[in-house]
Amino acid sequence: MTITDHRPGAAPGAAQAPGAAAGPGSVTPVLEVRDLHVEFATRDGVAKAVNGVSYSVDPGETLAVLGESGSGKSVTAQAIMGILDSPPGRISRGEILFQGRDILTMTAEERRRLRGAKMAMVFQDALSALNPVVSVGTQLGEMFRVHEGLSRKAARAKAVELMDRVKIPAAKQRVGDYPHQFSGGMRQRIMIAMALALEPDLIIADEPTTALDVTVQAQVMDLLAELQRELNMGLVLITHDLGVVADVADKIAVMYAGRIVETAPVHDIYRRPAHPYTRGLLDSIPRLDQKGQELYAISGLPPSLLAIPSGCAFNPRCVRAQDVCRTEIPALHPVTDREGHAVPGRGSACHFWKETIDG
Ligand code: ADP
Ligand code: MG
Repeated sequence: MTITDHRPGAAPGAAQAPGAAAGPGSVTPVLEVRDLHVEFATRDGVAKAVNGVSYSVDPGETLAVLGESGSGKSVTAQAIMGILDSPPGRISRGEILFQGRDILTMTAEERRRLRGAKMAMVFQDALSALNPVVSVGTQLGEMFRVHEGLSRKAARAKAVELMDRVKIPAAKQRVGDYPHQFSGGMRQRIMIAMALALEPDLIIADEPTTALDVTVQAQVMDLLAELQRELNMGLVLITHDLGVVADVADKIAVMYAGRIVETAPVHDIYRRPAHPYTRGLLDSIPRLDQKGQELYAISGLPPSLLAIPSGCAFNPRCVRAQDVCRTEIPALHPVTDREGHAVPGRGSACHFWKETIDG
């Protein structure tokens, strides 16, 4: 593992010295998902939860994965972490590269060692992810006992250190407390501490703040972003809330019915969305300056994954849909700026992305 120099504000993936021959593309991504397909065998048929997802994350980079509930965000994460509910779930196609190595071809033991030490996950609900009958100090310390063979006492000291690091007040006094004795926000910090314990190279945070109050949400998100920068980790931040990612993400991938429908550097997506679905998501963010106005919501429901609509899966809900949208699955087209230059990292899976971006 090489820790590249990463200063806050430095462009992601561009940590080389200025003038170095290596371009941004020369960094090995910490994670690369290629054409991933995941399906579930159900009583009613095969649910196609993930249908050709590709994304990558460089060291020190944050990718926000966005989309309504049921779009396949968590299933993708579970496939990456090797915690897919299988059966009934099954990866039917694709590759998952961790630091350039395909983890789907690794042995169970190799994957187990990666998990926790090199890649870790933060879940939405700390209360069910933490063990209720074991003190948080013991749970945090366990990471060091198992992976680094530390003594009970040394592990406890590490646990206190970690609790300090995620800014839990009076860590020393609280290290023996149980999960239910902490507030929701503090529990989420404990789970972040757990994920960070062994300084992994990749963190997947699945709706890490969704269960929290808005003010606490921002604090926990800021903490996560701060630690991620400090440790130069890759971060996949899964959320259904476009509002929370603007300040922390470098780039965004929008998912719909198990496919990526738009990718973009974070600011481009707010300024000029290139997919009608993204536009709909943006329009449904509450804005302080529009108090009292009715909130726009995308009409209709996400499709059944047992019978995804032909063509563009979004077509039944789309204001722009034409015949071609009902017959042809749109590829992720490169998206150009106003001068007609392709924008690196931008793509839209809409037949009418040009009209969308300009309209
Ligand atoms: P989200 O984008 O909200 O995280 P998920 O990735 O959790 O969505 O789920 C996508 C779809 O995958 C679900 O709507 C469901 O149809 C299917 N799915 C997920 N987990 C299971 C499971 N354990 N058994 C059967 N189907 C599942
Ligand atoms: Mg989910």
